[in-house]
Amino acid sequence: MEEKAGQPPRFNGDSVLWNGEWVTLRSLLTALPPEEFAALAQARSMDHFGTTHAFCGRCGAPMEPAPDTVTPHARRCSKPACEGHTRFSYPAFSVAILAAVTRSCGAELLLAHNTAWPAPRMSLVAGFLQPGESLENCVRREVLEETGLRVSLPVFSGSQAWPFPCSLMAGFTAEWEAGEIRADGAEIDRAEWITKERFKSAREWTSTPGDALQIPPKGSLSRRLMDAWAGKGPAKNNT
Ligand SMILES: [Zn+2]
Repeated sequence: MEEKAGQPPRFNGDSVLWNGEWVTLRSLLTALPPEEFAALAQARSMDHFGTTHAFCGRCGAPMEPAPDTVTPHARRCSKPACEGHTRFSYPAFSVAILAAVTRSCGAELLLAHNTAWPAPRMSLVAGFLQPGESLENCVRREVLEETGLRVSLPVFSGSQAWPFPCSLMAGFTAEWEAGEIRADGAEIDRAEWITKERFKSAREWTSTPGDALQIPPKGSLSRRLMDAWAGKGPAKNNT
């Protein structure tokens, strides 16, 4: 490798040249301090924005940086006659919710198993915001669709840039109100109420295979929400 430790990272899609080695951006979520990962997240999002907005969606002409002193990341159509020349384009994000649903006065937390994951791996119910939908309604819809449960009005509990490549995670807590677990069978094939006792013995996704419950790694919003429920830390931080 020509690159040496300490040089600025370089991107190739979701891979980052970091300290002389290509690693996934996702792996750095846990390896870097939050403020350093935030800088990488911004760089990755801007790289994605430039790549996916190379041409005008209205007329097909090449895009160029827009002279926006307030939002320096804006782009515009290079053709002066096009509406896109004066109506700037700004980075867009896919917003996804995370739902920390509890039951029995907080004694149990709802975790779900995605059909694509190894059997022991579980996490919070998650899903993308649909057009015209509020975040709170998104939480209620996703929980109902994936697990068949109805929940109370969700309460916002923090957010996190999720630059894989351009998402924003919004975390919520909610209380179970009605229903028995019925996994949708498509995205989720299993959901369970987890006690704090079982959560204590859980291992991280990166750990070696085994039967023990596996949960998301530290650094992710989903883990922060879980740890907050378990009494191990606050759900919010500055990332
Ligand atoms: Zn145009």
